Amino acid sequence: MTTTEVENFPGFPEGITGPDLMDRMRRQAERWGAELFQEDVEFIDVKSRPFTIRSSEREVKCSSLIIATGATAKRLRLPREDEFWSRGISACAICDGASPLFKGQILAVVGGGDTATEEAVYLTKYARHVHLLVRRDQLRASKAMQDSKGQMSGILLKRLDTGEETVLEVRGLFYGIGHTPNSQLLEGQVELNPSGYIWVKEGTAKTSVEGVFAAGDVQDQEWRQAVTAAGSGCVAALSVERYLVANDLLIEFHQPVAEEVKKELSDKDVDMGFDISLTKHRVCVLKLYHESPRLICVLYTSPTCGPCRTLKPILSKVIDEFDQNVHFVEIDIEEDPEIAEAAGVMGTPCVQFFKNKEMLRTVSGVKMKKEYKEFIEANK
Ligand SMILES: Cc1cc2nc3c(=O)[nH]c(=O)nc-3n(C[C@H](O)[C@H](O)[C@H](O)COP(=O)(O)OP(=O)(O)OC[C@H]3O[C@@H](n4cnc5c(N)ncnc54)[C@H](O)[C@@H]3O)c2cc1C
Repeated sequence: MTTTEVENFPGFPEGITGPDLMDRMRRQAERWGAELFQEDVEFIDVKSRPFTIRSSEREVKCSSLIIATGATAKRLRLPREDEFWSRGISACAICDGASPLFKGQILAVVGGGDTATEEAVYLTKYARHVHLLVRRDQLRASKAMQDSKGQMSGILLKRLDTGEETVLEVRGLFYGIGHTPNSQLLEGQVELNPSGYIWVKEGTAKTSVEGVFAAGDVQDQEWRQAVTAAGSGCVAALSVERYLVANDLLIEFHQPVAEEVKKELSDKDVDMGFDISLTKHRVCVLKLYHESPRLICVLYTSPTCGPCRTLKPILSKVIDEFDQNVHFVEIDIEEDPEIAEAAGVMGTPCVQFFKNKEMLRTVSGVKMKKEYKEFIEANK
């Protein structure tokens, strides 16, 4: 969930941020014994039983499955979009808007729906001015341009009715133009609607394959709200239980209820002062940069960035595997904007690797665990 303030989720009269809501749900599930693995699922087979789910880390066989992979923001596919991706163009104002490179700048959001409007309002917290560009008959952003430092400096706009072209000087362009359901893993295996959303029998979570259930945005083209996603998740979970009981497949599995949910980075592992022999640090990135011969992995995050919360435990596990061979530092770009600015960080999450006072690589967004592992292995 990448939304910032969720004002309409029942039970939170003051509102709650999307990432906080996710954290609470996760902790609640863990308290009742759920085992959670944060990994990319790469393959699902529901054509033969038991079903197979495979990630880069493990293969799981199961009698029933709920797919809740959500929907992904669409891109405009402008000329030079790839070149400027994460260097001015972004599909998530909530994740990237806090970057110091956008602070006090003129920005633009493309799209005319709720997402674009919310993103534009959010960006006004940081930007000097935010243009909301409406597509279709009025305007089309056709080209991104760059300044001497390589960051986006403007976009070429064309009025579709008159053909008139104008340059809009903006340092950031944010997309809010709708979503594509993440149903690819089940394509050709369960029925999808013409827009690619998983078809479910009305009023249920049942897909076209018995034992396979769908919940949330991946099956909901219409409402796409946190509370409807949670509600359909509840329907799906109860349906799984009923299905397993009815087919004599239920195996009870008791886990001790966790006393206290484990923190992602336990304080004992994190250096609050400076001890160069430690692996994980919250401060002192410059000291490490100048004094340590180890590979340094710096994770840049921001408080409202949902993907940052996804990446943190993934990266933390990878770092644990290379204990004493690497350093890990987390920088909150809102708390330390000057560090982020000096490092050219344009959005979060972003990971940079340094060694021998040199920056080796920047990895933007959330990548698969093996990508971080392979890089550290090759450079430690
Ligand atoms: C800008 C914005 C503002 C919003 N504001 C609100 C609001 O104020 N109130 C409200 O009710 N709703 C709001 N929403 C909508 C709400 O966020 C969604 O409806 C809700 O998050 C859908 O939940 P979901 O679990 O179906 O999908 P998601 O929250 O998208 O979760 C799907 C998860 O599946 C993971 N996933 C996908 N593919 C794989 C794979 N192959 N392997 C492993 N994991 C995978 C994704 O990484 C993601 O973590 C907003 C949405 C946006 C974008």
